[in-house]
Amino acid sequence: MKQTEVLETFKRTSALLEGHFVLSSGLHSSVYLQCAIALQTPAVTAQFGEAIADQFRGEGIETVASPAIGGLIIGYEVARQLGVRFIWTEREQGTMTLRRGFTVRNGERMLVVEDVITTGGSTRDTVKALTDSGAVVVGAASIIDRSGGQADVGVPRVSLATLNVPAVQPADCDACKRGESASKPGSRTIQKSV
Ligand SMILES: [Zn+2]
Repeated sequence: MKQTEVLETFKRTSALLEGHFVLSSGLHSSVYLQCAIALQTPAVTAQFGEAIADQFRGEGIETVASPAIGGLIIGYEVARQLGVRFIWTEREQGTMTLRRGFTVRNGERMLVVEDVITTGGSTRDTVKALTDSGAVVVGAASIIDRSGGQADVGVPRVSLATLNVPAVQPADCDACKRGESASKPGSRTIQKSV
């Protein structure tokens, strides 16, 4: 699956909006991304899952693991395509942990899958939780890389599409300087420009 096809799918499903947005971090950006909107259509998820799985066939992956909640749907689909087990990690008092009775075997070959990598924090913390439990994390994958390829998660990493869209403080935002109001998708709040 080519990067342009991935981004076209995101735009067609309104999972990727272009304009002037306030992100949940409070930073402003010209791109708003909400993977869940694209992944609500199983056929779309299957396409992305296959494209990720294809890059790891022959690597002897035994289990896919994803950080909850963002990684659950795409991680499950990648596992289904590879015909392997799927588990997830979640934060417990800030620390990414295996809960719900999930265990990993010493030396178990694992792939970590997330929907979007921004700083890489969730994937990095999941890799650590798994390796601390004795697993071997072979690689990591995401549908979108928002870091422009910069995020380092400590293992080889692939993504289906890479974006390099800066998120800036409102004071540094060009659209704000032009007096354009910013919207906050996914909430009812419309913030006026400052
Ligand atoms: Zn702005």
